[in-house]
Amino acid sequence: MKYFSLLLLLVIFYQAESQSTKKLHNKAILVDTHNDVLTSSVLDDSLDISHRLSKGHSDIDRWKEGGLDVQFFSIWTDKTPRNKEGFFKDANQEIDSLEMITLRNHDRMVLATTYKEVKKGIRQKKLVALIGVEGGHMIENDMNKFDSLYKRGMRYMTLTWNNSTPWATSAMDETLHADSLTHKGLTPFGKQVVQRMNELGILVDLSHTGEQTFYDAIATSTKPVLLSHSSVWNICPVFRNVKDDQIKTVAKNGGVICINFYSGFLDSSFAKKMAQLEGTEGKRIKDSIGKNIDAAKLNQVWRKYFSEQLQPFKPTISILVDHIDYIVKLVGDDYVGIGSDFDGVSSLPVGMDDVTKYPLITEELKRRGYSDKSVKKILGGNVMRVMKANFR
Ligand SMILES: [Zn+2]
Repeated sequence: MKYFSLLLLLVIFYQAESQSTKKLHNKAILVDTHNDVLTSSVLDDSLDISHRLSKGHSDIDRWKEGGLDVQFFSIWTDKTPRNKEGFFKDANQEIDSLEMITLRNHDRMVLATTYKEVKKGIRQKKLVALIGVEGGHMIENDMNKFDSLYKRGMRYMTLTWNNSTPWATSAMDETLHADSLTHKGLTPFGKQVVQRMNELGILVDLSHTGEQTFYDAIATSTKPVLLSHSSVWNICPVFRNVKDDQIKTVAKNGGVICINFYSGFLDSSFAKKMAQLEGTEGKRIKDSIGKNIDAAKLNQVWRKYFSEQLQPFKPTISILVDHIDYIVKLVGDDYVGIGSDFDGVSSLPVGMDDVTKYPLITEELKRRGYSDKSVKKILGGNVMRVMKANFR
């Protein structure tokens, strides 16, 4: 009987704990600085995020369920343009699509361009949408096009995606194609772009940029910077994760690093297995199964094999939170946030199936003894501070 009472007490205690964690998650302002669903919906008409979808990671209903308040929508295009008119046209097409979604859902969603509008949208319990342009190639080396994207609502720009621009080099090029670079870091035009971003109140996003570009941009910027979707190099050493010195430099600048949820950026065994499958091991297997089947069939079989092989290497939520924890232990709790990359990645930690699962992070942080105040900063408070310091 004694044991039974003790057990009952424990259950009651556990339930009260989980109730208060839920309350904390719902009360906190949750900001996610990177989501790629716009690109998916521009390419696939059947993805209308106004309705609850059974595929993909995001839609308005599921965002609400996950307690999300503010979403930066990534405006993205590849290193070769989708439209024959070029990258700038691609960017505008994605912004058109976001405007249409916002118009159709104006009762529960708002497109914000100022800090005041962000705050107002949160108060009204609407999903606040912001525009983040992922890659300087979309301004096509033209300040008029840059200004035009600003007028349409661009509030962060990632200086480079995986591809360098003529004025800024990317992490991919600085690390993997260093020999082919004609310059490294920001050119004088690149510095002008950063200055113009400061002037207009556009966050300087340094995810995807090479280290030289990163340091040049921080030296040029007079405002706190953003890394919209980057994880920690010391836990998972892949080319576009951030090293300790970079983390310390962001802290000194007063900026924020938002952790990317992609398995390949979180867990080094996952990243290693993937590199093997993409390298010689994969080639050997493809050669052997490809002997008697056509290319389309091979592709199908290979993709299935690829994801099956990676399945056991998927990281846990705990590893995701290790990345947050690492930054907090290195520089304090003011410089880290959430930049999921939902709908832009092929693998996520076990249980982090879609945008309804953000509360798992709050639970893990509380389990590790984080105070409510710290949790609120990490979920969105830090990004809110950086937005306030930048936006006009
Ligand atoms: Zn990205």
